[in-house]
Amino acid sequence: MTMNESHHCPVCNMVTDIDCISSDYRSERFYFCSDQCLERFTDNPGIYIGERGIPSAKQRGERRIKRRTLLLDATVPDGIAENIITELEAMMGVVEVEINADKINITYDLIEVTTKQIEAVLEKTGNKTSKKYGEILKRAFIHYNEETILDNLEHNGDTHSHH
Ligand SMILES: [Zn+2]
Repeated sequence: MTMNESHHCPVCNMVTDIDCISSDYRSERFYFCSDQCLERFTDNPGIYIGERGIPSAKQRGERRIKRRTLLLDATVPDGIAENIITELEAMMGVVEVEINADKINITYDLIEVTTKQIEAVLEKTGNKTSKKYGEILKRAFIHYNEETILDNLEHNGDTHSHH
């Protein structure tokens, strides 16, 4: 028997085990539940790991709930709608996906997932139907610049307070 050691994914808090994806940061090893969480961590480690005794945004339990709407030219076919909901809701940080005729509403926590990651999964899901549908979904995804928000989250240890 080996020691049953468990860790928490620093991005989504899920319990992970020693066989999981790992990455070293500042000579400490972190274990991730998924490639998605590893990617978030690698892009913005300061959101998840505190510095000089100041807890990070994630460690303070912060969330940044965002909602994006995709407007398509036509009603999303039932089979595709089902796939989109399944694939997106399987992602860490995706809170809710609603599809209403030609509208897709996605609610997510920017602390755990970015539009870039959601977009990649959307495109992949569309591509399963046809390359054209992947393109349609990708084009419908309105781009917002999240980088400023992410940068602030990473460096706001001293300025942000709860109300
Ligand atoms: Zn995770």
